[in-house]
Amino acid sequence: MELQVEPGVEEFIRKEHRLLIDGEWVEAASGRTFETINPATEEHLANVAWGEAEDVDRAVRAARRAFADDSPWRRMSLSDRGRLIYRISELIEEHADEFAMLETLDNGKPFAVAKAADVALAADLFRYMAGWPTKIEGNTIPVSAVATGGEFLGMTLKEPVGVVGQIIPWNFPLLMAAWKLGPVLAAGCTVVLKPAEQTPLSALRLGELLLEAGLPDGVVNIVTGFGDAGAALAAHDDVDKVAFTGSTEVGKLIVKAAAGNLKKVTLELGGKSPNVVFKDADLEVAISGAANGIFFNHGQCCNAGSRLFVEREVYDEVVEGVAERAKNIRLGSGLDPETEMGPLISDEQFEKVLGYIEQGREAGAETYVGGGRAGSRGYFVEPTILTNTSPEMSVVREEIFGPVVVAIPFSDPEELVAEANDTRYGLAAGVFTRDISKAYRTAKRLRAGTVWINCYHVFDAALPFGGYKESGWGREMGHDVLENYLETKSVVTAI
Ligand code: NDP
Repeated sequence: MELQVEPGVEEFIRKEHRLLIDGEWVEAASGRTFETINPATEEHLANVAWGEAEDVDRAVRAARRAFADDSPWRRMSLSDRGRLIYRISELIEEHADEFAMLETLDNGKPFAVAKAADVALAADLFRYMAGWPTKIEGNTIPVSAVATGGEFLGMTLKEPVGVVGQIIPWNFPLLMAAWKLGPVLAAGCTVVLKPAEQTPLSALRLGELLLEAGLPDGVVNIVTGFGDAGAALAAHDDVDKVAFTGSTEVGKLIVKAAAGNLKKVTLELGGKSPNVVFKDADLEVAISGAANGIFFNHGQCCNAGSRLFVEREVYDEVVEGVAERAKNIRLGSGLDPETEMGPLISDEQFEKVLGYIEQGREAGAETYVGGGRAGSRGYFVEPTILTNTSPEMSVVREEIFGPVVVAIPFSDPEELVAEANDTRYGLAAGVFTRDISKAYRTAKRLRAGTVWINCYHVFDAALPFGGYKESGWGREMGHDVLENYLETKSVVTAI
């Protein structure tokens, strides 16, 4: 039986969603709204304020005021800042069911997955970040002063970079808001957040809870938009730094737009991650890891293990094992507790994913399992394995962002590493083997920001995540992420 939507959640969804600017919920300057849909039913879900450049500008000005030296935010003690961030994690946990339901309706993912993964990790991210404000430290540095002579005391201060623009995607809406907002708050910056147009609801609900937690006005501003809000934020001259998660193509546009005032940029972009199974692996573990690597979140993960390399001797067994898993995945509404995989996010993604499968077929790839639409309503795509591919095919080279994996046999571990690295991306990789030396050697040679050994999709607030090559600039999470939001100031005192 399908889960019922609680009246409180229903009421939240149905209201006219506004922009959060300077602590107030306001209409877009144009008065316009756009619609979101439930991807499982293709039906209208919510009406959301259509923020545009003028709204982005209002929000940036509010963020700038909130960043003033004498603002409540800048004067808040570091201990209180940490306490406030901790309170946000508690509020997310207190509202875990509500957030999971919003993600299910807005994004399509199964409720249980949203609760156990998205919501739990989002709360944990804020909990982790709550410890940082009191621990962000500079250094004392010995100064030789060879040119000037004399005696000096050198030290560095770590200071917030200023007003930040953040553009987040639809695949993990609440979690991506947490990944972005947690470090911004820990570092003491202020922010304008632009949620994905497909999935704005959880970020808007989080905005309400940020105010409830006591965040001063203007520290976090949320501008929902559809078409030009992101570009306006990336180009705004009074934004000191922009952070984006999404496609490599838009990432490159952001870099160009950011050049106007040379704002700092961090990017978490696409991937075509290799997942490697050696013949000496525990094949049960490897098959689960390969299936989970690609099918988790319907394949809508930047780090999806979308190229499965299997040592030739065990290729048939592994591909058959993953195919068995694929055939048994229950597709359906995220409200059905039996559902393991929901729909893709949108008509656009649905067409894109099916289009790639078709391109693969036309180029000579074989559909080992899946390969088509599931059902007749909602954006459901069957978990798909393509075999008989060749390195130049688009299904091997490009990010599909759906439940589609190419399975490729290999014989020579040397060639495997070269082939696995033969991609413009470098976000993640998996290695399955019982030989720890082989695992470690392979992990070192794979050009990727994360390598999972005998596991896949293991994330932690303390572990940095981000890409080599065209998968991005900078890291999310861990203490590395704080550097994205801090400036280093050297202070030299003559003594
Ligand atoms: P995009 O990555 O193309 O980004 C869309 C977002 O970027 C929107 O919020 C949009 O805001 C903003 N944006 C668009 N143009 C600009 C610009 N010139 N400057 C600044 N911001 C801009 O996402 P899509 O949803 O279109 O997905 C396309 C592909 O991206 C997917 O198929 C997938 O391959 C990849 N992707 C990767 C993700 C990841 O986690 N790395 C997540 C999601 C998608 P506005 O509406 O205001 O224009």
